[in-house]
Amino acid sequence: MTTIAPSINPPIRTLMGPGPSDTHPSVLTALSRPTLGHLDPAYLQIMDELQGMLRQVFQTKNAMTFAVSGTGSAGMEATVVNLVEPGDDVVIGVNGVFGTRMCDVAARAGANVIRMERPWGEVFTVDDVKEALGKCKPKFVGVVLAETSTGAWQPMDDIAQLVHDSGAMLLVDSVTGLGGLPVETDRWQVDAIYSGTQKCLSCPPGLAPVSFSERAVQTILSRKTKVQSWYLDVGMLASYWGSDRVYHHTAPINMSYALHEALRLILTEGLEACHARHLLHHRALKAGLGALGISYAAQEGHQLPMLNAVRIPEGIDDARVRRDLLQRFNLEIGAGLGPFKGQVWRIGLMGYGSRAANVLVFLGALEQLLAEQGFKFSAGSSIAAANQVYADARA
Ligand SMILES: *Cc1c(COP(=O)(O)O)cnc(C)c1O
Repeated sequence: MTTIAPSINPPIRTLMGPGPSDTHPSVLTALSRPTLGHLDPAYLQIMDELQGMLRQVFQTKNAMTFAVSGTGSAGMEATVVNLVEPGDDVVIGVNGVFGTRMCDVAARAGANVIRMERPWGEVFTVDDVKEALGKCKPKFVGVVLAETSTGAWQPMDDIAQLVHDSGAMLLVDSVTGLGGLPVETDRWQVDAIYSGTQKCLSCPPGLAPVSFSERAVQTILSRKTKVQSWYLDVGMLASYWGSDRVYHHTAPINMSYALHEALRLILTEGLEACHARHLLHHRALKAGLGALGISYAAQEGHQLPMLNAVRIPEGIDDARVRRDLLQRFNLEIGAGLGPFKGQVWRIGLMGYGSRAANVLVFLGALEQLLAEQGFKFSAGSSIAAANQVYADARA
């Protein structure tokens, strides 16, 4: 006997975790447009437009800018495995989950990985980078711009200059950064950068925007060994995304529509306005949480606008709060990872999710759940503090 599952009817949640974040309604509409063939002229035009808009959002003129089929980690893998040949020295900044993952990817590709370490929640200083570069001559230095596991925002200007002056290439993880804070690929002279659609691009998971500098492209074209991955071989992918249009693998057509629409939305709002919006709602949330005595896990002055990693108050049941938020308010926040497990909540205000309604509903719900667990605070104070930030911003 066969059983047929009912058609899918997912609950409508508010996604305020570390990603995926809420998809913009017009992006969902774009996904449902008719599927085209991957060599159809109408689709090729969409690809060209997609690349043009990606260059604007990455703030780059790099010809080799496109979307890898796969999530953010596929972008990480695509940048790393194309640049690494067995035996290469690479320096990777490790201050959270994603730097750790980059080390694993590079080591699997045969790199000799030199870890530049900082405690979770901290960022790398110029001195850290100087010290690492004093010990070796790496092919590239890899850093995470927005460390989603800790909420730390890595300043780029000074370390980018230092890496460039040393002769090494610079590889940047902007999975959570892109669309939520300035990503200045050309000004920082980044050689390889990747992102993902489901964080601040208001899109479902499934594509990984990437961009390679001319120097990175030349490095890849002059490799002595084949890229370890067939699927992510940039030389082959370039033949499809470039003017040759040689079939490599079938593009995720409808996801390209979604990313196309998501980029249109960001550019229509304006990059600066979009970044300012992320900052405003972060400040409102931070003021609200501050009124409850809840503090941030990342270093002061280096906190991400789109990912608020905050310390769980003493005596509060972590899992119960997250479960109640989901079951009673349809609202998802993230748990802490690694050393932050059970210590930290990760509250995302990403892309379309970065809006006052989300901040205020979350604070209201959190007050209710904290009160039930006997936490002492002045009722309504978090909402009042957040609203004060909004009032000041309007004044
Ligand atoms: C989410 C994330 C990734 C991995 O992306 P997936 O889409 O989960 O594969 C990599 N780096 C950072 C900083 C991220 O936040």
